[in-house]
Amino acid sequence: MIKGGFQGKILRVNLTSGKIIVEDLNEDWAKKFLGGRGYATKIIYEEVDPKIDPLSEKNKVIIATGPLGGTLAPSSGRTMVITKGPLTGTIACSNVGGYFGPALKHAGFDMVIIEGKAKEPVYLWIYKGEVELKCAKDIWGKASDEADKLLREKTHPKAETMEIGPAGEKQSLVANAMFNGHRAAGRTGVGAVLGSKNFKGIAVRGNLGVKVAEPEKFMAAVYKTREILSKDAFSGGGAAMLGSAMLVNVINGVGAFPTKNAQDAYFPEAEKISGETLRERNLIRNEGCAECPIGCGRVTEIKEGKYKGAHGGGPEYESIWSLGAMCGVSDLNAIVMANYLCDKYGMDTITAGSTVACGMELYEEGYIPKEDSPFPLIFGSGEALVEAIKLMGEQKGKLGKLLAQGSYRLGEYYGHPELSMSVKKQEFPAYDPRGVKGIGLEYATSNRGACHVRGYTIAPEVLSGAADRLKYEGKGELVKTFQDLTSALDSSGICLFTTFGMGGEDIALLLSTATGFKVDINEFMKIGERIWNLERLFNLKAGFTRKDDTLPMRILKEPIKTGPSKGEIEELDKMLDDYYKVRGWDKNGAPTNEKLKALGLLD
Ligand code: SF4
Repeated sequence: MIKGGFQGKILRVNLTSGKIIVEDLNEDWAKKFLGGRGYATKIIYEEVDPKIDPLSEKNKVIIATGPLGGTLAPSSGRTMVITKGPLTGTIACSNVGGYFGPALKHAGFDMVIIEGKAKEPVYLWIYKGEVELKCAKDIWGKASDEADKLLREKTHPKAETMEIGPAGEKQSLVANAMFNGHRAAGRTGVGAVLGSKNFKGIAVRGNLGVKVAEPEKFMAAVYKTREILSKDAFSGGGAAMLGSAMLVNVINGVGAFPTKNAQDAYFPEAEKISGETLRERNLIRNEGCAECPIGCGRVTEIKEGKYKGAHGGGPEYESIWSLGAMCGVSDLNAIVMANYLCDKYGMDTITAGSTVACGMELYEEGYIPKEDSPFPLIFGSGEALVEAIKLMGEQKGKLGKLLAQGSYRLGEYYGHPELSMSVKKQEFPAYDPRGVKGIGLEYATSNRGACHVRGYTIAPEVLSGAADRLKYEGKGELVKTFQDLTSALDSSGICLFTTFGMGGEDIALLLSTATGFKVDINEFMKIGERIWNLERLFNLKAGFTRKDDTLPMRILKEPIKTGPSKGEIEELDKMLDDYYKVRGWDKNGAPTNEKLKALGLLD
């Protein structure tokens, strides 16, 4: 009997039959995988053939919370979207902040499984334990923020919402699931899977509490962790002041800020797009997620120039980089505008910006013929950036349709896939592996294609300096530790940013007092390792092998041209064998039976 943290109920919605059933949470799975990413991956692993077309009716999407979601634990507003991702073909888990996850818990459910395909557009309304599939014909085609508004008008003014924008409806591989119109569960094209099912979104509202197993001990852990967060420089003030964009000057300052499609890793105009400049020119206020004392979100507006009057959420660091330096653009208002458009269409900003950057290089090299682009698609042009995002969002013309498939397929069409800065066809984020060695190993081995939030080694390699960013030794162990920690954290329901101050022990204490499970730091890390290995098993069955654990040729062969990391390349092979070894995997990157048995994944 689960004593707390979980509500114990899972909603299963079959869109083909219209049947909705409520299932009991499997206690054994909850102990082994927690909730969120871990538990939902177990469901996908058991129920979805890894070889299916991700956009076929056979795929499933799980909207999941963790056991700390909806409690008073700090930064516990996270929601996860788990499926087989169409951009990569891998297992996919996107993690988003806001208030949706707690609302789902307060309505009585830990997660929602969406399966099958509706004949016509539908949305789901969950209200205090009652659930209904409703017609979404008049919301279909609406931008994310309009859909959010309409969903609340149709249900409850204080409902929390998840929705797809036009990109998801058109099954763009760049598509997100959006929350409240401006928070994004991004990467891997999860929004396209929802679009393929004719599923526009969910509105949810509830008023139940979430019981915890040991209330006094849990509250003591809550006070302790909130105090820890208040004392850290980033979580205790820096994040609220500058948002994640405070990293622009830091990462450019070490020469690891991919510039012009990673032709370089130092952007001389970084100051113009920094967190400091954004605060001065665009910030209206900060925004936080449920129970978050950190408050890193930005609410901004454009106060002058061509896009004057536009307003919305963000941009955060990754978006400023992908739509900025990666495209050689230093016009901050154009970057902010492009970010707003990505949210409206419901597109992932990392993939969108990096795909435009790839398009810019293809165009400048003459691989994209001039007649294929309605405007000069050149590096440094804020106008070209904004127009390219519109083409992508609307899938207008040949180029618009190609941009909507991400950079790998765009480059492949024009004969140069090597110009896609991606791993497993997913674009890498805002840290150049040539200047930070461990993050390259992290991108190469990440279970959802290139990603920084599967194992954020930037913290020790750059921010604290605990690990030498230019050394290869010990990076296998470092990457494994961060990947395992993040897998467990994602499955608990709190935000990754808490780890700037809190350690695994603190999260384990919150978890054990909330659920009543025996979770200490060792068990917490073991749960994370178990989840990582299960994701790996799914990908191996989907056909991925060691050869897919790699990086773009540019990163492996072309030295950085300027800045503090000038001359560096990434020697991935120096780290990969070591990584497989510390993971207990064979030379081909498959977990050994011994490892699977130790993790309880094989009898
Ligand atoms: S740190 Fe930022 S993203 Fe994380 S929960 Fe708080 S406001 Fe949301």
